[in-house]
Amino acid sequence: MKLDLHIHSEKSCDSFMKVKNIIAVAKKIGLDCIAITDHNALPKVKAQEKDGFFVIPGEEVLTQRGEIIGLNLTEKIKPLLSVGETLDKIREQGGTVLIPHPFCVIEKCLLCNYGNIPKPFLFEAFNGNIPLNYFNTIAKNYGKKHNYAMVGSSDAHVYEYIGYGYTELDTDASSIDDILKELLKGKGVPVGDRVSPKSASLDVYFNSFTHPLARFITWFKDWR
Ligand SMILES: [Zn+2]
Ligand SMILES: [Zn+2]
Repeated sequence: MKLDLHIHSEKSCDSFMKVKNIIAVAKKIGLDCIAITDHNALPKVKAQEKDGFFVIPGEEVLTQRGEIIGLNLTEKIKPLLSVGETLDKIREQGGTVLIPHPFCVIEKCLLCNYGNIPKPFLFEAFNGNIPLNYFNTIAKNYGKKHNYAMVGSSDAHVYEYIGYGYTELDTDASSIDDILKELLKGKGVPVGDRVSPKSASLDVYFNSFTHPLARFITWFKDWR
């Protein structure tokens, strides 16, 4: 099974992708499971399985110390809470914690600022969207050393980079809960060796330029 558990749709202030099209692209390139994880928002999709293809709604929540992804959520979580509160809010609703780009200082990385996160969580050892693959190398080594349950993901904000980083999972699990349980046991293998060539897309330039401002506006609106 191939999974890309970190993709942004139009509910993120820095992506214009529609859920329907994300699913179509993901299927076309051979993924079996995706999570749509919008910035401080839930995507316009419910957890679902159709013809062996799984869609998991999630949120990439900005905390006071960096970003944390909650997978399989039903309720939106407010940004700018403490790390502990955010972890509790994910787990209270039966969600699974994923630590994205743990060492990328340019993104809002949690492990540069925090550290010692209580298990269980998934650890993003490869992120296809960060500016330097070096930060993935650090993450992968750290994850191996600490025996973390590792995943790889694209963090795609445009269609062409969906699956640019994914997780291989050898399983016959047939529900989202079981898939996430298997991943938490450390059975996933992160796949990806280069970050996406952003120069290929003007969209990405545009997004990365407007990204900080747009994100700030979203947080501010949520926070008020
Ligand atoms: Zn992020
Ligand atoms: Zn992201």
